[in-house]
Amino acid sequence: MGERRDEAQLWTSQCMEKACRFNVHYSHTNVYEVRSKYSYVVDLGTLSCSCKKWEINCFPCCHGLAAIQATSLDVYAFIDKHFHVDYCQKCYDFPIYPISNVDMASSESASSGFILPPNPKRPPGRPRLKRFKSRGKCEKNLIRYSRCGKMG
Ligand SMILES: [Zn+2]
Repeated sequence: MGERRDEAQLWTSQCMEKACRFNVHYSHTNVYEVRSKYSYVVDLGTLSCSCKKWEINCFPCCHGLAAIQATSLDVYAFIDKHFHVDYCQKCYDFPIYPISNVDMASSESASSGFILPPNPKRPPGRPRLKRFKSRGKCEKNLIRYSRCGKMG
């Protein structure tokens, strides 16, 4: 946590910079064609690109950045505030204090790597000798009728 906080303090720009070299051609209002090996359609109005990376990542792809840079618009206006450096620095602003383990598990269980079960405590009273019978299966005692001599 401390290392990340120190690393975030070194960032100077508002967003991570990505340099791209593309040929950008104006097509329609907020719609640009960005050409490189392939041709991509960037719509600055809907914040989308035909490569779909802008929609997936929620920040402009390199084609979108090229289209934004071709206009006089601010690049950072198209990037979600959660990707700005100051937001990332705020994530590590609050320290996580270490926790002492003096009053935790004994050294015996910690050294073996297993957490041992607690010592059983005998309940009060005499232990029960008869077991509980199953509720699902009822066995009736068969009796022999004295008049007919049949079991029932
Ligand atoms: Zn793209």
